[in-house]
Amino acid sequence: MKAFFPWRLFWKFFTTLLFLMTLVFVVSALVFSSFLEVKINFFQAAAGLLVFLILSAVASAAFSYRFASPMRQVILKALRIANKKQVADLDEVEEILEDEPGEYFELEMALNKIRRKMKKRRLQLSHEREESQALMASLDDAILSVGPDLKIKFFNSRMVHQFLEQAQTELLQKAEPVPLARIIREPEILKLYQQSLLTGETQVQSLRLYSLLHHQHRYFSVKVSPLREEKVAKIYGAMGLFHDITELKKADQIRIEFVENASHELRTPLTSIKGFVETAKDDLAAGRTDQLAHFLAIISKNVDRLTELVSDMLTLTSLDADTAFRREQINPHQLTEEIVERLSPLANEKNLLIQMSFEAVPFQADHGKVAQVLENLLSNAIKYIPPEKKIEIRWDEEGRFVRLQIIDNGPGIADIHQTRLFERFYRVDKGRSRDVGGTGLGLSIVKHIMQSHGGSVHLKSQIGQGCQFTCLFPK
Ligand code: ADP
Repeated sequence: MKAFFPWRLFWKFFTTLLFLMTLVFVVSALVFSSFLEVKINFFQAAAGLLVFLILSAVASAAFSYRFASPMRQVILKALRIANKKQVADLDEVEEILEDEPGEYFELEMALNKIRRKMKKRRLQLSHEREESQALMASLDDAILSVGPDLKIKFFNSRMVHQFLEQAQTELLQKAEPVPLARIIREPEILKLYQQSLLTGETQVQSLRLYSLLHHQHRYFSVKVSPLREEKVAKIYGAMGLFHDITELKKADQIRIEFVENASHELRTPLTSIKGFVETAKDDLAAGRTDQLAHFLAIISKNVDRLTELVSDMLTLTSLDADTAFRREQINPHQLTEEIVERLSPLANEKNLLIQMSFEAVPFQADHGKVAQVLENLLSNAIKYIPPEKKIEIRWDEEGRFVRLQIIDNGPGIADIHQTRLFERFYRVDKGRSRDVGGTGLGLSIVKHIMQSHGGSVHLKSQIGQGCQFTCLFPK
């Protein structure tokens, strides 16, 4: 850059000056000789012209240099602006421009204006780049973009953690772009990118892919969109977004299963009611009334069952919809007495002994929901243990939790059932649960309430040794 000199400008100046001076010289010589009638021979004229040409060439060169060299300064400054990569470096140029204003002052001012605009644009670009990089890094979705030749141009950190092995990441960090096919093996994904580039349309597909982050196969919605240049709409690449939809799929599955189970549970008492109503109608038509009371009792039991089921389902749905809960002062002693009193007719029927101990301070929670937890656990114990057995209700504290334990010495629950016991409609013995009026939803309601309170519920049990349900409420 230092050796640069505006030769074109110099030569233009030089030739123009030389031509003009020669013209003036020749015209003045002719005028001069004709006016004064001086006879000049050819050799004198040629020598004069030669001397003049030499002198005027020297003068023209000096003049041209004088005008071209300040231009050299301006051009060097412009080149310096063009070569600055950092925004801060542009400030240096400002100093150069302002400290040493040269001959072409207006030109330099115009240059200064360009520099200011460039600085603003660069600053804007650098901010946009920072923001988009922060956004890409914080996304839970993996992103990967390619050029029109299907070579990788960009990927975010989620892509690396989710799908790329060490060797692949290292390959991508090399200077030259890597073909997509060397990194992504799934033909479906490659096809999505190819189709998007070819058709210029967004391609979407759900795929089951191995996630390195979760060490298992998961479901992803892969969406590949073409990237177009702003005005001409020419496609210069494609960008793929990998969105994990496993949890959504699971939630969908749970919903489907819930509806299936609920319809099944509702159909059983309904079928029974319908059957007994028809039989009662036939009996009445035939004038038989001896069995009517028995049929009505069965119908009434099934209606109770339906009511119970609908009420539990509504409780679960409202728990799902409403994550907020009230904070009220809970007095464990008072609350337990209330519930025990409500359930004592059932317990007395089976001659069960209920023991209570209170070593917990009052705490903050949703009164109705804590009452529901206690009622579900206590009524389960009453329902499932044989007569003459014992139930213990213990309230105490464990670290930052208030602990509620319901311990019985009934039949207990086998290990294989314990992992699924808190699922909706899961029962150890379907027939027995129905006989005692169970819906299969009691424990899932308990688990839901405990989770929404930031607490937990656990079961310790062995077959033949009773159950110990433990609920931990944060104080
Ligand atoms: P259900 O309405 O059938 O009682 P739950 O969700 O409350 O539904 O309980 C699920 C299953 O757990 C019950 O069907 C029952 O088999 C078993 N169970 C719950 N509590 C006890 C207990 N204290 N002793 C023995 N089995 C129990």
